[in-house]
Amino acid sequence: MDLYTGDINQLITELGALPGIGSKTAERMAFHIINLPHDRVKRLSDIIIRAKENVKYCKECCTLTDQELCPVCANQKRDHHMIMVVENTRDLAAYEKTGKYEGVYHVLHGAISPMNGIGPADIKLKELIARLEGDVNEVIIATNSSLEGETTAMYISKLIKPAGIKVTRIASGVPVGGDLENIDEVTLLRAFEGRIEL
Ligand code: ZN
Repeated sequence: MDLYTGDINQLITELGALPGIGSKTAERMAFHIINLPHDRVKRLSDIIIRAKENVKYCKECCTLTDQELCPVCANQKRDHHMIMVVENTRDLAAYEKTGKYEGVYHVLHGAISPMNGIGPADIKLKELIARLEGDVNEVIIATNSSLEGETTAMYISKLIKPAGIKVTRIASGVPVGGDLENIDEVTLLRAFEGRIEL
C-alpha cells in the first residue's frame, strides 16, 4: 500500500531514482520541496531544465559545459600537448581542485565494461583518437582503478602507443575500486606525480 498519494508519491519516486538518494532521503527532500515557497521551487525546476538544455560537450575535450569550449580548453596558458584522460566531468573537477595540473583533459563519459555491454564505441574514444592527430606529447590515463577503469586504460594504451605518443598511467595510491572524485587532493597529486609509462 502506498503511504502517500499521487503527486507526493511521484516526487518521492523521482528523487529516489537519483544516485545516492535512498528512500528515506527522497521522502525528506520531497516534503522539504513541498514546504518551500513557490518561487524557490520554480527556481529549482527552471534551473534543472535550463541546465539540461544548455549543457553540452566541449568540442575539444568532451567535458560538460555550456560554452563551445570549456574553461580549461579555452585557456591558452594550459599545456595543450598534455592530455589527461578521465572517466567523467567529476573526475576532471577533482584534478582541477588540486590546482597543480597544467595540461588539458579528455573526458570519456564512462569506461569499457564488457559485462555491462559498454564497448569502446560507447565512450568518447574516437574523439580522443582524433585529438591525437595534433601535437600531443603525453597522454596520462587517469581512469579509476576499478576493473572497468583498468580495462579502459589498457585498451587506450594499446591503441595509441603505436603512434609513438608517450602514454602514462597514474600511480596506485588511488585505492582499488576507488572513484577519483572521492579521493583527497594529496593522494591525487601523488598518483599524478608517480605516474608510470605504459
Ligand atoms: Zn574542454
